[in-house]
Amino acid sequence: MIAVTLLLAITEPEPIAQSRLDIAQIVADLTFPGMEVTWEIAKCGQVNAYYQPKLKHLVVCRELVEYSPWLARFAAAHEMGHAMVRQLDLPITGMEEMAADEVAALELCIFSDHCMDLARTADYFYTLDGEELPADPHPSDRRRGITLMRLYLDPAPLVHTWGRLLGITGVK
Ligand SMILES: [Zn+2]
Repeated sequence: MIAVTLLLAITEPEPIAQSRLDIAQIVADLTFPGMEVTWEIAKCGQVNAYYQPKLKHLVVCRELVEYSPWLARFAAAHEMGHAMVRQLDLPITGMEEMAADEVAALELCIFSDHCMDLARTADYFYTLDGEELPADPHPSDRRRGITLMRLYLDPAPLVHTWGRLLGITGVK
């Protein structure tokens, strides 16, 4: 049984400058040959992050960075997952949102030493426990939390699956 009982408080805001460095590293880690991504931290009026496919542009809302630097790192890596799927035309099956979550786990636990961000994010979604809406491309919060916690507990298979996926497409 998966333990999803971590009691993890939202940390106090880090300086925006540190988040800027963290996000720059995430974007660099996940920009593979054949990709181009510009990004910014911008005021959005909401706690969010999003990738604009046509502009190949990632926006991490300043409100999100101020709310939680670790959730902002997760979100930046997740949105870079969307950029990878779109720009590399990756042959994913299933939900793109879950593929993007896997990329976030890959970045946080394998490419960097921010794996605790993944545990915190898993707990965050599990605790939100919003209902699953048919029109929402994301899995339910609780399902998402459990999936992220499983990836936190054993991220090694990500190296195999994503290594193969990027290998198949000639990226890696
Ligand atoms: Zn997404």
